[in-house]
Amino acid sequence: MREPRPFTAYRLKDLLSDIAEHVRPAFGKGKVADYIPELAKVDASKFGMAVATLDGAEVAVGDADEPFSLQSITKLFALELALNRGGDEIWTRVGKEPSGTPFNHLAILEAERGAPRNPFVNAGALTVTDYLMARVPDVSTLVLEYIRTCAGGITGGLDETVAASEMATAYQNRAIANILRVHNNLTHAPDAVVDAYCRQCAIAATVRDLARAALPLAMDGFSIHSGETVLAQRNVRRVNAVMMTCGMYDSTGSFAYRVGLPAKSGVGGGIVAIAPGQGAIAVWSPELDRAGNSLVGTIALEIFAQNTRWSIL
Ligand code: GLU
Repeated sequence: MREPRPFTAYRLKDLLSDIAEHVRPAFGKGKVADYIPELAKVDASKFGMAVATLDGAEVAVGDADEPFSLQSITKLFALELALNRGGDEIWTRVGKEPSGTPFNHLAILEAERGAPRNPFVNAGALTVTDYLMARVPDVSTLVLEYIRTCAGGITGGLDETVAASEMATAYQNRAIANILRVHNNLTHAPDAVVDAYCRQCAIAATVRDLARAALPLAMDGFSIHSGETVLAQRNVRRVNAVMMTCGMYDSTGSFAYRVGLPAKSGVGGGIVAIAPGQGAIAVWSPELDRAGNSLVGTIALEIFAQNTRWSIL
């Protein structure tokens, strides 16, 4: 039997400092996302990591107070909101299977007649945004306010420059949205859905904000920072399951092998991981590996999981 190893905030702080040292040789081996012009301007040498634990403690290292673009990580919070608003209804429009293809892949969506594999590929996320648009006038504000509530306040906000930059170059996402519309899986105009989605992706937050915002997924949906239940327990299990199987683009399997925690990444270089019953970990380092996940961030989480033995496996 594995011994439970309680990690005090003090030991966690030491571990994060060690990790920040250990990952240094890996800088320069990845590539900052540049298909959204504004993201290409980010300093590739940034590194921040934060852990929020069930007792309300928060430890961090590096550039932990600098907001970065959450991008696909917002898909996690949008999914929570869709489940909160309509229960299982969203699963009639979006699947729960890994895609095995890049996040913005078109062919599989066309072949499967506009039925997205899961809510974390772009086709699925656009469908979730469309679903939320039918319920609120402004999805990005809804997602931002939800992140604020989960985290008990954040220092970030919506980055209008990133939103405009992505909207101006969202050719692939517009193609995906049009395929979804052809197959009657969007109820709004494709361009309006893409614009709302780009704004949602342009939400920026720090790793501290992100770890606190994801903490309810480690504690049955309760936000210790706002004092309210933000997600029903049954949905917590489901969201964690979808993260575990679909959260890291098409290298979700190898990430599970290396880290062993449900996680969601974004092309801004952020990753958030959940250790149920323990805490939430957020890391940011802009250089990406070939699958689009933060290269240094993945190494940092691997070292973290090995040392804490926080794992669901
Ligand atoms: N807004 C980005 C896109 O749709 C998000 C991609 C990502 O973070 O995976 O291209």
